[in-house]
Amino acid sequence: MTRLDTLTFDLDDTLWDNGPVMEHAEQGHYHWLDNALSTWLEARLAELGRYGERFPLPTYVQHRGEVARRFPLRRGDFTWVRRRSLYELLEAYGLASQEAEMWATAAMERFLELRHRLDPYPEVDALLEGLAGDYRLATITNGNVDLNRLPLVRHFPVSIIAGELLAPKPDARPFLAALARLNSAPSRALHVGDSWKEDVLPARRLGMRVAWIDRHDQAAGEALPEGIHRLSHVRELPALLARLQQRD
Ligand SMILES: [Mg+2]
Repeated sequence: MTRLDTLTFDLDDTLWDNGPVMEHAEQGHYHWLDNALSTWLEARLAELGRYGERFPLPTYVQHRGEVARRFPLRRGDFTWVRRRSLYELLEAYGLASQEAEMWATAAMERFLELRHRLDPYPEVDALLEGLAGDYRLATITNGNVDLNRLPLVRHFPVSIIAGELLAPKPDARPFLAALARLNSAPSRALHVGDSWKEDVLPARRLGMRVAWIDRHDQAAGEALPEGIHRLSHVRELPALLARLQQRD
């Protein structure tokens, strides 16, 4: 087998536990919007009522789904879908178009700030530091984390936000883009990710090898197809790579 010299990484739920990050960001920016808007509206608040009461968080979540269905090309660009959804709800609430635009933008700035308040698993920084000497490293995410806003960026010469390419995983294009930019090829690359559908299947289809982070031990003890290796945590990656390189 061709020797591996390239590693691509999913981000959310691969390099950190994303559930608490999203919950905090989701609630945090929506509450912020409701509070800041109430103060700004002053006398108009009596007429309009509180935004958060007329459009509670579940309504926003549901509306995002509708927006994603109405704009299928944009469905993987979560930042766009969120901003558009906020804009439409704020207009429905009674703000003028420009006001709705301004508040949707402000709320999204707040969201993105909270979205980047995250702690990678404690082992991750040293792990990447060690791997960067032997491999070319890239990230491929469907989420809206901009690696440039995280200290982790120093390990990665290439990072791909697949939603912004309008080609979210499992589309092959973000994988091919990462490999092309690293001047690599699928046969020399291993992808690391937690989603069977969005990480494992598309990478394997391209001929990459895959380390599947089976976070919930869904397939413990099961035989997996050739080229797919099960880990329960990214910290187990260096041992897997050592085994694979010995075998080559
Ligand atoms: Mg993930």
